[in-house]
Amino acid sequence: MDRPKIVRYEKPGKVENYPCGAIRVGTLVQDNAGWRILKPVIDHGKCVMCLRCFLLCPDGVIDKSGKILEIDYRFCKGCGICARECKVEAIEMVREGGDEDAG
Ligand code: SF4
Ligand code: SF4
Repeated sequence: MDRPKIVRYEKPGKVENYPCGAIRVGTLVQDNAGWRILKPVIDHGKCVMCLRCFLLCPDGVIDKSGKILEIDYRFCKGCGICARECKVEAIEMVREGGDEDAG
């Protein structure tokens, strides 16, 4: 049996070439069940479009196809990974239905 070949790791030059972030917006078939209590809100004035949140969102609900990032709240589960990982603190987790709920 052939042994697996070792492939030298080359850092991808483009975000699209990273192995994660493969789940695209629109591929989840079940929306969230309404138990989310916090939701991420992006401050587009602070966002530097590094796409770290896009790559790390486990549900692939951050859409980067437009000029600004958009979160599909139908499927976002409110885990907060995007907010935690954003290096410029451009994502705030806000309470659903609260005064600060901007959208
Ligand atoms: S991680 Fe933060 S700065 Fe980077 S794209 Fe997401 S919101 Fe923008
Ligand atoms: S809160 Fe979780 S599921 Fe929602 S956009 Fe952020 S990382 Fe994705």
